[in-house]
Amino acid sequence: ENALASMLPLIEEAQRPSDSISAPLFAICGRPNVGKSTLFNRLTGTRRSIVGDEPGITRDRIYGEVDWDGRVLRIVDTGGVIPDDEALIPSEIFRQAQVALEEAEAIVMVVDGRSEIAAPDLELSRLLIRSGKPIFLAVNKMDTEKIAPQAENFRTLGFKEVFPISAEHGLGVGDLLDAVSAAMPATEPEEAPELEEVWEDDTETSDDTGEEQPRERKLRSHGEHVSRETSVAIIGRPNVGKSTLLNALTGTGRAIVSPIAGTTRDAVDETVERDGHRFRFVDTAGIRRKGKTTLMAEKLSVIMARKHLEAADVALLVIDATEGVTGLDANIGGYAHESGRSVVIVVNKWDAVTIEREQRIAAGEENVPEPADKKVYTEQVRDALKYLDYAPLLFISAREGINVEEVFKKVQLVARERRKRISTGQMNKFLDGIDFERAGVPWSKRVRIYYMTQAAVAPPTFVLFTDRDVRLHFSYERFLQNLIRDRWKFIGSPIWFKVRPRN
Ligand code: GDP
Ligand code: GDP
Repeated sequence: ENALASMLPLIEEAQRPSDSISAPLFAICGRPNVGKSTLFNRLTGTRRSIVGDEPGITRDRIYGEVDWDGRVLRIVDTGGVIPDDEALIPSEIFRQAQVALEEAEAIVMVVDGRSEIAAPDLELSRLLIRSGKPIFLAVNKMDTEKIAPQAENFRTLGFKEVFPISAEHGLGVGDLLDAVSAAMPATEPEEAPELEEVWEDDTETSDDTGEEQPRERKLRSHGEHVSRETSVAIIGRPNVGKSTLLNALTGTGRAIVSPIAGTTRDAVDETVERDGHRFRFVDTAGIRRKGKTTLMAEKLSVIMARKHLEAADVALLVIDATEGVTGLDANIGGYAHESGRSVVIVVNKWDAVTIEREQRIAAGEENVPEPADKKVYTEQVRDALKYLDYAPLLFISAREGINVEEVFKKVQLVARERRKRISTGQMNKFLDGIDFERAGVPWSKRVRIYYMTQAAVAPPTFVLFTDRDVRLHFSYERFLQNLIRDRWKFIGSPIWFKVRPRN
């Protein structure tokens, strides 16, 4: 033990994230291959491929965040791995433990429930228990309820709290988070966004950020920080204003349209920071790329949308106000919906149907059509994109820079919402009060739900434990979805369900 402890000074100083904040931090520790990365990804909803890194390369600590019952918790995955060199494993594990003990308010130790307790497990657990910090044992790879009781075998490690989980399937993760959250110091409750705030939008005040500043400052002083990054895909058919919007958002103001049509360049992301949030616009070269012919451009817009969705958390679905929602818009919107990304619908060129009209009248033009009415327009868009009813809708003019600020705010909002987690406790309380008779599903198609748990974020995914293995009837799914949205909103994000028969 002394030999191991003496390695500690050799270990490089833990590097804190650049903008350290006040949200409480907990660490994930454990020996290689127990599922730390999988758990981290599951909790934070990131899709970074950090599972199965190249052997021999120590990966950095990775910081992430989880929204849990409206509260933000930070997570550090301390999982440096050197699977090639058995001799280095103990020192690596101690390095992790040191980081965890220094920085974190609570620690989750992960073990592989399908393997025997190994020597490093014992050493690590001893060190962690001695620290006196709140510690929790997550016994991972308990993929079915049947084998979950096996987790009890790991009590010999000396932990009071043992949680059988399946990081891969999201099982038990909520209970673990409940316990971790309860053990962490309290932080200021975060404001739950109101739905009205989202559906109601007002072009007139949009460009005026002055009145918003005090609130931003307040958030910052409470520790809102820049470590959140949201990847944004700007999608839509040709000529709706994607490049113009990209330019407005990234603030270049130059080169509205790429003069080189159809050029193939490597994907370039551009990053913008605002209000303590980092926005990454994916494949900006691709957004500016144009097809040579109309047909080519249209095909390209669909291919690009699908490709860009892959790389993004949030999609800005751009619609041309002068043309309304076309079949191609609906097609691209459908891909966005199915992709599981969050969506903000951006009706662009609003100036063309409002300001321009007044100018035309002022210029003495006759038979100028009636002004576009936001309410009527909203109804039309909603009607044409029914499946995207959860997506906030914005009216902007990318070219005139009107309401562009609002785009950042909505992206930030939906990025937050998609990572929200509801605890199993809350969910069960909620389910108790539901009258499932109201679902209006034929008897033959009904399933009995024993309980429901949120297994994943980004998009929020709920697992229903049922008496039968059937696909949920669509109206039943919709019924559940509406109930969940009434209670927790999940603005901008689709909600997914999975059925797991319990037998
Ligand atoms: P780490 O080295 O501790 O970060 O472990 P990883 O997250 O890279 O996972 C190691 C292996 O265990 C991978 O092949 C994962 O797919 C697998 N794994 C992780 N969680 C689970 C789980 O809940 N169930 C099962 N069956 N396998 C898992
Ligand atoms: P993309 O093909 O979707 O990238 O569209 P572009 O950004 O190239 O824009 C297509 C055309 O729409 C250009 O002529 C732009 O100047 C025009 N445009 C873009 N945004 C606006 C806007 O907000 N208002 C008006 N009136 N025109 C716009």
